[in-house]
Amino acid sequence: MLLAHVALPVPMPHPYSYAIPARLAARVALGSRVLCSLGSRRLVGVVVAKGEGDPPPKVKPLLDLLDDEPSLSPALPEELLAFLRDLSAYYLAPIGEVMRLALPPIERAVARALEDSLFETKKGISARKVQTVIATDSVEAKALGGQAAAILAHVRAIGETPLTRLEERWKSARAAVKKLASLGLVTTSTREVAADSFFASPAPRDVPPELTAPQAAATEAIAASLAAKAATTFSLHGVTGSGKTEVYLRAIVAARAQRRGSIVLVPEIALTPQLVARFRARFGDDVAVLHSGLLPRERLAMWKRLRAGELDVAIGARSALFAPVRDLGLIVVDEEHDPSFKQEEGIRYHARDMAILRAHRASAVCILGSATPSLETEHLCRTGKAKKLVLPDRARAQAMPAVEIVDLRRMGPGPTGDKRISLPLHRALEATLAARAQAILFLNRRGFSPAVRCEACGELCACPSCSVALTFHKRHGERLRCHYCDYETPFPERCAKCQSPSLALEGLGTEKLEETLSAAFPEARVARLDRDVATGRTVDTVLGRMRAREIDILVGTQMVTKGHDLPHVTLVGVINADAALSLPDFRAAERAFHLLVQVAGRAGRGDAPGRVLIQTYTPDHPAIVHALRHDVNAFIERELADRREVGYPPYSRVALVRVDHPEESVARDACTLLAEVARQAAEAAGGEADARVQVLGPAAAPLARLRQRFRFRIMLRSSDRAMLRRTLLAVERARGQVARGVRTAIDIDPVQL
Ligand code: ADP
Ligand code: ZN
Ligand code: ZN
Repeated sequence: MLLAHVALPVPMPHPYSYAIPARLAARVALGSRVLCSLGSRRLVGVVVAKGEGDPPPKVKPLLDLLDDEPSLSPALPEELLAFLRDLSAYYLAPIGEVMRLALPPIERAVARALEDSLFETKKGISARKVQTVIATDSVEAKALGGQAAAILAHVRAIGETPLTRLEERWKSARAAVKKLASLGLVTTSTREVAADSFFASPAPRDVPPELTAPQAAATEAIAASLAAKAATTFSLHGVTGSGKTEVYLRAIVAARAQRRGSIVLVPEIALTPQLVARFRARFGDDVAVLHSGLLPRERLAMWKRLRAGELDVAIGARSALFAPVRDLGLIVVDEEHDPSFKQEEGIRYHARDMAILRAHRASAVCILGSATPSLETEHLCRTGKAKKLVLPDRARAQAMPAVEIVDLRRMGPGPTGDKRISLPLHRALEATLAARAQAILFLNRRGFSPAVRCEACGELCACPSCSVALTFHKRHGERLRCHYCDYETPFPERCAKCQSPSLALEGLGTEKLEETLSAAFPEARVARLDRDVATGRTVDTVLGRMRAREIDILVGTQMVTKGHDLPHVTLVGVINADAALSLPDFRAAERAFHLLVQVAGRAGRGDAPGRVLIQTYTPDHPAIVHALRHDVNAFIERELADRREVGYPPYSRVALVRVDHPEESVARDACTLLAEVARQAAEAAGGEADARVQVLGPAAAPLARLRQRFRFRIMLRSSDRAMLRRTLLAVERARGQVARGVRTAIDIDPVQL
């Protein structure tokens, strides 16, 4: 009997076996989507293996095959299927749930969502009218010729398609569609759909610039690897403004020349409208931009068009790594050092690491681009696993901005009376305004005041569900908010502990900084960019106003540090560089350094030179000293030496076992149990002294309580990946032994400790 082994979206590590009915035998392939019954449920799964043999007792048949259309079949290309299996093995994640990362949304659910959303075209979201073509269920009565046949096949494969798309490909599409409609083979409709903000305004086509010598060298090296079909990882290290994006564009062109597709991963797609605009300017509107604002139907259409090879470039945040791009030739990871490439829930994969893996499976090229390469990437270069490409200067020969330190230990309050807007920063703002240039001030705390403290007993107002202080937000009714669980409460009249009415605001948030600056510089137009003001669309608006010079001073959280290219910004101020340095994490210095260099890179990208002021109480910290000199290599050298010394990544592998439960003792006991399992497994695994798996903990997580659950963790560390894996497998097997209601997770190569 012919059997199909199917990965189903359930948390089980193994595929399920089904009999392939004769009517489907010829068409069920590896990577096919199939409908199966499991208990009383019907589920869509993916065929991961086929085999002949004795059927297991009570084997059930496959119910149906989806995506029967040749251009969409099998649903997952071979390379993607192999990659997902590797990913599942690496992260000890259930194969069926891993497959789901790459599957399109299911049509029926989509159809329903579509009907809802069409009537719900929200206020404020501009709508567009499109005429679309849909295939009917009727079968052809007579032979069709030429374009009509091709269009019908296309619409049947892809689903609802805008008429304008068809016209781009077939000259007389309009007439052909009319004919098909008269034969009852298709129907057309005019629909109003929410405009995709990334395509809202037209992008005039650009003229590719002449490459600088380092850009040309990088492009050649990439094209050579593509031509050789040799899986190669490149680290593209280019200072901010050096023209890395231009290299990505050329690499995509090189991949296209070989009829291969590309994936471009960016940290946060909502923050990169400008990058998308540059891709559209080069390639037109035929790029798939995968973002959270897509309607389910649009998402499905995008998936199908990529799978069919009709679109060959996909841009998106980390999940775009799973796009079914046909004949994948290139994966670009822009700002590869960015922590957002790590998924922090469900399957905790790292998109940068996995991009390298998928590129390998597809014999493709992977480009890891950054002005501040991660230590992991640098380590790959040093161990011969990645090739380094360097863009040492800014593309248009602008100087790097001058960076100065403001030593807050020696600084009295500035003219505003607030120490955190020091005199040098105040003067620099005045000079910037006088020159009609723009300033960006970076402060990593949103809200008005990060804490409210009782002056009588010293107690902080804390979240009832999390072990964190509540932030005071002034606008929208003076409320306290938890930034972790979104709990909200009116400003309290008394201290919860001692009933004293004297509660004092503590610390500076972006909201207060904005208010203080507006008062100090009444003639200036001050705006703010952080999670409180920015949902997808407003980011665009704020950046647009910035570009149009309708804002003089922009205050914001790390949202302002991303790769924006704002030519009139000449001053960047970092209000408090120490905040990032004090995190309880072995990567704190690296992260702070990245942040400082990235935000500094926003200054002086146009014709006028830039200036950066970094305010700090620890001016001698290596992260600050090296950021001051733009000396990325020296910082990397030093930080690598430190990591080697203490045996942290990239010189070892780390995994966390995370445990949480509403009751502290239950969580701790469960964690203790798993720690004991890990210790015994580590002991049994043996090994040389430095490869031996170290088990640290159980210990309370840095955020000890979150959403009413107490959190504990164990850290496992080893220089030997296989040994660490063996230990983790023992923990994985023991996860079922913990008390009911305890949640456990294994986090391999964690980014957040
Ligand atoms: P990065 O991504 O490295 O920060 P960008 O790709 O944004 O840098 O490039 C910075 C600026 O330089 C952009 O305005 C870009 O259009 C311009 N640029 C890039 N390459 C060239 C080139 N070869 N010649 C002229 N201008 C260029
Ligand atoms: Zn009190
Ligand atoms: Zn909370």
